[in-house]
Amino acid sequence: MYLVKTPRLLKKLYPKLLWNVNKSARRIYLTFDDGPIPIVTPFVLNILNQYNAKATFFCIGDNVRKHPDVFEQVKNEGHAIGNHTYNHLKGWKTDDNRYLENFLKADGLLQTNLFRPPYGRIKRSQIRLLQAAKPVLKIVMWSVLSGDFDITLKPEKCLENVLKSTGGGDIVVFHDSLKAFDRLQYVLPRAMEVWRREGFEFMALNFKN
Ligand SMILES: [Zn+2]
Repeated sequence: MYLVKTPRLLKKLYPKLLWNVNKSARRIYLTFDDGPIPIVTPFVLNILNQYNAKATFFCIGDNVRKHPDVFEQVKNEGHAIGNHTYNHLKGWKTDDNRYLENFLKADGLLQTNLFRPPYGRIKRSQIRLLQAAKPVLKIVMWSVLSGDFDITLKPEKCLENVLKSTGGGDIVVFHDSLKAFDRLQYVLPRAMEVWRREGFEFMALNFKN
């Protein structure tokens, strides 16, 4: 149903999207999609703090509206913010103009140059439309999908997958969502402990255009 490691072919088909960062550095780019929400997002912030880590949060606009205090906390702790649409729209099933509108509505709240399409699904016409509306926009995909959203996946297996697939320059997707919380709680602190021992740093995606 999904692959932990992003296939090279997919990266080649969409070379303008960002799939990973410089592979030679011992840096891992943790990203958290679908927040901000109470309990789960603060849990993530607390773990990141323990490791002196910076990460990137691809926020749903409607969650920012509902939980402005959690959103402020994410920003205040120095993490990067990305747009994840206002209502978590599926690009392939959404009319282009509606997609753009929803992106812009979230952009008003989030004010960021980073965007990740929900489900990683976006039409080429939508990519063009968003980039025309916001030329500095960087569309960020990932190189490692943790699968934390998969309720049939055992936390131990999720941890194993993530550790096996991640190395320098990888962009790893987690979710600060209730659905992912069982796995996230287990995997995040353990994975970060291993990575720190291996000498990795945790960086936010920061692009100055
Ligand atoms: Zn999402």
